[in-house]
Amino acid sequence: MPTESNGPLRRPKTSLTIAPVTTWNRLDAPWRHAMRAAIEAYLDDSAPIGAVVFDSNDRAISIGRNDFERDRLAHAELQALKGVPANANREALSLYSTMEPCPMCTGAIRMMQLRSLHFAAKDPAAGSTELLSATAFMKRFACDVVGPSDAGMEFVNVALMLEYRTRNGHRRWRDEWSSYLPEAVAVGEKLAADRRFTHWQRHAIAVDAIFDEVCSHIE
Ligand SMILES: [Zn+2]
Repeated sequence: MPTESNGPLRRPKTSLTIAPVTTWNRLDAPWRHAMRAAIEAYLDDSAPIGAVVFDSNDRAISIGRNDFERDRLAHAELQALKGVPANANREALSLYSTMEPCPMCTGAIRMMQLRSLHFAAKDPAAGSTELLSATAFMKRFACDVVGPSDAGMEFVNVALMLEYRTRNGHRRWRDEWSSYLPEAVAVGEKLAADRRFTHWQRHAIAVDAIFDEVCSHIE
């Protein structure tokens, strides 16, 4: 986990250069589920965040997507966790989220006692996975935390988040995002200026095509 206590969080400069060319077809199954949920939420005019719970047999047992614009607490991770069957072996479950969880969802992950958490993109504004080691209670069940998982996927998620935020006039936290991954912020703002969301929505562009289009901006 990156641990910088002073100044803005910055993405390690080397990470983008070691990433393979990311395309939809190269995504692992959990990430296809999570990214599909994220882009569907986005096309439904909410924040582009999706999450999926996988069991130890590599089955998706619950999927959640952000519905923040209609319900402040409808975060993708919480939606996915609430869909886990009561009889599931929770300690064998893994949560995949397209964005680093916020304090509320990090708390929910702790309460569910999941085996592992994978997130695609660091959230330099609200991401709070460090809380999993903040207190004795939080540390009592070890949850493996892996993220950011893939530099290309992180780029797409940050770019779509900035497009969403720019289009909706949410300027707060832009500086945190820009300090962390300025290339993706620039692409997100260009997508907004080019009104790509309107094009994608009006022409019912498929989520995999949207993902690959944003990937094509990675230099
Ligand atoms: Zn959350």
